[in-house]
Formats: sequence, C-alpha cells, structure tokens
Amino acid sequence: MSGRVAIPIRGKKKKPTKKGQKTQITEMAEEKKIIKVQEGITVSELSQRMGVKTGDIIKKLMTGGKMTTANQTIDPETAGIIAADYGWKVEKVGFEVEDYLPEITDKPEDLRARPPVVTVMGHVDHGKTSLLDAIREANVAAGEAGGITQHIGAYSVSTSRGDITFLDTPGHEAFSAMRSRGANLTDIVVLVVAADDGVMPQTKEAIKHAKEADVPMVVAINKMDKEGAGVDRVKKELADNNVLAEDWGGDVIMVPVSAKTKMGIDLLLENISLQAEVLELGTNPNKAAVGTIIEARLEKGRGPVATVLVQEGTLKKGDAVVTGTDFGRVRMMMNARGEQIDELLPGYSAEVVGLGGVPPAGDTINAVEDEKAAREIAQHRALKERQAESGKTARGTLDSLLNKMQVSDQKELKVVLKADVSGSLEAVAQALEKLSTRKVKVTIVHKGVGMMTETDVNTAAALKALVVGFNSRPESGSEQTAKVLEVELLTYSIIYELLDGIKLKMEDLLEPIRTEKKLGRAEVRALYNVPKLGVVAGSSVLDGTIKRTAHVRLWRENKQVYSGKIASLKRFKDDVKEVSVGFECGIGIEGYSEIKPGDIIEAFEIEETRPSLN
Ligand code: GDP
Repeated sequence: MSGRVAIPIRGKKKKPTKKGQKTQITEMAEEKKIIKVQEGITVSELSQRMGVKTGDIIKKLMTGGKMTTANQTIDPETAGIIAADYGWKVEKVGFEVEDYLPEITDKPEDLRARPPVVTVMGHVDHGKTSLLDAIREANVAAGEAGGITQHIGAYSVSTSRGDITFLDTPGHEAFSAMRSRGANLTDIVVLVVAADDGVMPQTKEAIKHAKEADVPMVVAINKMDKEGAGVDRVKKELADNNVLAEDWGGDVIMVPVSAKTKMGIDLLLENISLQAEVLELGTNPNKAAVGTIIEARLEKGRGPVATVLVQEGTLKKGDAVVTGTDFGRVRMMMNARGEQIDELLPGYSAEVVGLGGVPPAGDTINAVEDEKAAREIAQHRALKERQAESGKTARGTLDSLLNKMQVSDQKELKVVLKADVSGSLEAVAQALEKLSTRKVKVTIVHKGVGMMTETDVNTAAALKALVVGFNSRPESGSEQTAKVLEVELLTYSIIYELLDGIKLKMEDLLEPIRTEKKLGRAEVRALYNVPKLGVVAGSSVLDGTIKRTAHVRLWRENKQVYSGKIASLKRFKDDVKEVSVGFECGIGIEGYSEIKPGDIIEAFEIEETRPSLN
C-alpha cells in the first residue's frame, strides 16, 4: 500500500495525499497523551480524555477570556493550548474520503486518453447556443447512431480524432460558478466571437476567465455567412487583447465558422481535438470514479437526477456514491442520447439516478467501497457542516448585532427560493444576495429544488418572506394557502426579470421620499357660512392653482396659523377640481373655521418618489 489517489474534495486541498502520511499518523498516535481532534472537541470530552475535571478546564478557558459550558465545542487550537498545560498534545486530523477508498497507484501504462471537456464562452448573441446546437446536429448528420436528444448539461460528440465532451451550459456564470467551487472541469474554452461584431465586453471577460484558469482557448469566429463578416478584424481585435492567432505568430487556433450554415463546424471540432492532443489528457479508468455534478434536479418518480461528469476512474451502475452530504447508489445512468448505460468512462457525462438528495452543481461525487462508507462520509460531512453552522451563528449573532448597531435602519427582504435545477438555484441565490445594499438586505431564508410547495408558503408566512420561483411553479394548493396566509408567490423564468422584480420589492420596503410641490396661493376676501359645509372662505387665487386635493397652510400676518387639507372647493355653486390664478373661489379647510379676511391660503402637493436602494 503505497501511493494514494488524488481525490478533489470541496474545500480541501486537492493535492494527492503524500505517501506514507497515514503511517506517520499511526506512529504519532502510538505515543501516549495525544488527542486527535477533527473539527473541534467538547469541553467535557477533552476533560474525560485527559482525566481532568471539567470545571478546571472551564476555569482555564475563563481565565483566557473564553466563557464556555461543558457541552460547548472548542476548536483544536484552543484545545491544544489547554491540553499543553496538562502535558497533552492535541492533533488536528482531517477526515479524508481516501480513507474509504482502495489505494491505487496510477502506472503510466494504465493511463488512457479521455475526451477533452469543452466550455463555450463569448459575448451575448455571438452564437454560443447556436454553435452548441450546430455541433450537436452536425454529429447526428455524421451518421451517429441515435441523436443527442436530451439536454442534460453536457454531451459528447465523435470526431475522426476522438470524442469531445461539451458542457451544454454556456456562459461565464456556469464556468466561474463551477470554478469558484473548485471544480476546474474545463480543458479547453471555445471562445465564440461574431465576425460582424468583434471583441465585446463579455469576450474580454471570457478571455480573462480562461487565462486565469490557465485553460487554452480555441476561437470560433462565428456568423461567417453574414455580410460584413471579417476574419482579420476579429483577429486584430483579439490580438489587441493578447490573444494571437497562429497565422499571426501566436498559438491560438482560430476557425471561421457559421452556426447557421454549419460551415467550418467539422474543422472546429478537429482543431479542438488537436488542441486536446497537445494537452495529453491521460487518466486511469480502472479505479473508483471521481466526478463533478454538472446539474441536478428533483424529478417526479425518479427522485433526484444528477448529471455527472466523470473525471477519473469509471462510474458503474450499482456503485455506492457520495457527494457532499448526499449519498446513494447508482441505480440508473442515461446519456444525452437517451440510452441507458452501465459504465461511465472518464471525460463523459450522464444522468445518474439513485442519490438521496439534490446536490449543488459543482460538487464532487465519489464512488466508494460500499453504501456504508458512503453514508458514513455523508453523515460526517453533515455533522461538520452543523458544527461550522453553530459556530457561525454564535459569531453571526454578534456580527449581525454589530451590523444592526451600525445600520439600524437597514431593512430586510426575506426570500424562500425555489428553482427547477440546483445549478440555477445556486446561481439565482448568489445573484439575489448580491442585490443587498446598505439600506436593504436580501436574505434567503430557505432554498430548494422543485415546485413551490405549501411547506414553502408556510415557511414564508412564519418568517414574513416572499416565495420566489425560478422556472418553478406553485404546487396545487399552495396558491390557495398563499392567499389565506397573505404570502406573495412570484414566478420568473428569466433571471434579469427576477432580479428586477426583487429590486422593486426591496424598494417597497423603503419609506418613500416625500417632497413638497408648491401649487398656488389664494387670499381670503370674505367668509360665508354654508349649510353642511361650515365656514367657506371666499378667496381670490393670487398665483398658481388651488387644487381640491391639495394640502394647505394658512398664513396670517406672515405667521402660519394652521395646516391641513382642503375640505371643499367651489366656483359659485359648483364643486371644482381646481381653480387657476385670477379666479375667485370658495375654499373650505378641513377641521378649521377660524379663517379671517386677509389670510393667505397656500396650497401644495406632496409628491412621493421611490428612494434609491443605495
Ligand atoms: P448566444 O447568446 O451567444 O447564445 O447567441 P445565440 O446562439 O442565441 O445567437 C444569437 C443570434 O445570432 C440568434 O438570432 C442566432 O440565430 C444568430 N446566429 C447565431 N449564429 C449565427 C450564424 O452563424 N450566422 C447567422 N447569420 N446568425 C447566427
């Protein structure tokens, strides 16, 4: 048992565990007076392990300025300081999924080429979707058995030089979301640039992403069928952005294509394969699979369905798997052609049925020895998450208290968020939280994949939240419940519309800005007692207009004697809406009858405008 397998685990170092590390731990464990701690240890457990009174430890912690109870967890560092006083050592140990995996050394002869994984990026409307469709269709025309019929988030096509796997979730969002989760899936970026438009802001952004991730690019100069399409102009603009074409002395392959006429598609695929050959993407298929969740959703009847891209090893039907805190067994696998498959090789993707939950996109999935191991890993992770969470809440409350003190007038918009697939759920949740401003904070109180259920409505009612659905509809009954509980259900299928809608809801929380708008002034000439109306001031409008709906101030010898609203406005015997400068009218003031000749009635309106969120 020597070498170990490199398993990328979310939030952990991704380097292969060093040879012999395990042995080392065992050796150290053989020394007495060592306590191995994973994420933390409770005070009482620490005291038991060292044979010291719990009270003594609490006292020590208190002297150090830490108030704790016996059942509270302390971090390994703190535990280490305390333990040192008693001659003990605390050793922080990680929990690795490798502990449950058979150890395999990849020998060079075990390595097999795998298809490159390609992401298509580029400026909006330059043809990313069209290109992905064209590639999908071109491959069917090439005599493939069975077309690619399912949109599962990834598909593979064959070329004379080998297969290529395309991530069918175009856009930088998906790329950067995956990357921010530590999943560097993409081997090659296909940068689509429309020949009639050239390098645009998102083109530059894509270049930046690809360079940061150190992923080679192949440029597809698209829309070559269009008039005014110019290859040289695009090449020049790309060169200005440090992307130099091969024929210009650089190393970036650029292929003119048309997604519309399918011109150049085969050449593009060939060049992607060529680029892949340079990368020498060898991997050992004969070991337990490690993959990434591309997409996941909940399906009636089938339960959680996750599109998995295998990166190492082979995923087999019946394999026990664990991803994050979810585990299960691969009950069924289906590729983008809708075919059921028993084995999924590295570099390929398929929908996997059999997980216990809907994992977030970008998470790593591991095949492990058996279901027991899968469960243990999942449970351990769940425990760790809870510990981290409770640590966060303790700290969180203090932080939010401080925050509240600083911006006591910050309002909060609470949202229960539902989406059809976990990929968009994460993306929408992130985008929503980013809307938060100094004045209004958006808090996602609950999020999940699936329909907007009655439980969602109840949660929202309890927390005074909105229920927002992205490509998710209300389940039967939940609309009725929402009506009864006065919970707002909002559904969207376009992210920008969703964000705009939520911004309006955020603005609704803010007090409108009231500004006074002067309307006009009238001078009181004589007073009349009108039955039912009371005192009416016969007045002459000096400037502007007096409106029936206006607010008024009453001035007497330059002093304000009253302010209120107009109760009646008449011209002769008729009620009127407004009276303009130069005319006479009768004005009644709500709740005030002590008007005197010579008084000035100043009329104004209050205009309400929506405050800005910033
Ligand atoms: P995306 O926003 O990058 O995914 O762009 P789309 O694939 O949605 O394409 C944007 C628009 O350009 C659509 O109206 C397409 O029909 C059109 N389009 C895409 N590729 C081509 C092409 O090669 N030639 C022409 N003439 N139009 C194209």
